[in-house]
Amino acid sequence: AATNSTEDDYHSIIKDNEKGKGQSNKMEFQAETRKLLDIVARSLYSEKEVFIRELVSNASDALEKLRYLQMQNESGIVSSESGDVGKKPTSLEIHIAVDDSKKTFTIQDTGIGMTKDEIIENLGIIAKSGSKAFIQEVEGKGGHVDKNIIGQFGVGFYSSFMVADKVEVFTKSYKPNEPAYKWQSDGLGTYELSEAENVQQGTKIVMHLKGDAYDFAKEDVVKGIIKKYSNFVGVPIFLNGHKV
Ligand code: ADP
Ligand code: MG
Repeated sequence: AATNSTEDDYHSIIKDNEKGKGQSNKMEFQAETRKLLDIVARSLYSEKEVFIRELVSNASDALEKLRYLQMQNESGIVSSESGDVGKKPTSLEIHIAVDDSKKTFTIQDTGIGMTKDEIIENLGIIAKSGSKAFIQEVEGKGGHVDKNIIGQFGVGFYSSFMVADKVEVFTKSYKPNEPAYKWQSDGLGTYELSEAENVQQGTKIVMHLKGDAYDFAKEDVVKGIIKKYSNFVGVPIFLNGHKV
């Protein structure tokens, strides 16, 4: 009887009804950037202070990448397209400065820096990890990076907006003839990008702290947090000019 359908009928019904018509197109999820940034800034991290861990990790990664490229260059593996990273070895350091009157937290590294394209890719696309891409590229060429590079999820940078309502990034790539850039955002869905002058090789991030995060402009507070998180970092960290 027609009402007594068997399991076979059931499957055939599904097959017949669910066939797509024509060519199928892969569609991309659209993210509401503003909401996503809000989730990262509010919910992903339990404690605000971890933004320091995230920014120190990024600075450390940038220095490890430079160290790796310098080693490759010395052994003649890296061709000139990667720049003369071995010619003038920069000292690999992380400098943090806090200013209690200006309510700023600044972190600067002498690492690989970013080109314009890298800024757009790495800071302009949420959950895009330039560090993961770097490891994949090196391994694709048969190289090997030690487990020193921490980044892989591509969200850590946005934790800065937990504590800052304006973040400025000044960066200059180690690659020769690359201009320096200033990236700036309030973390609410848009950013500004322009060329900049008097920028050292590497990256400097200036965070203008929110009212409820003024503690992070206090030297003693920040010193304690750096000590907590710095054991995994293989380069010296300075706070307001003094080694931590
Ligand atoms: P992750 O560290 O997991 O890759 P982040 O959100 O912390 O993700 O950072 C995104 C990307 O931005 C990094 O992978 C890196 O390519 C770039 N970046 C962030 N900070 C720096 C920095 N100080 N110097 C150079 N590149 C950086
Ligand atoms: Mg990171």
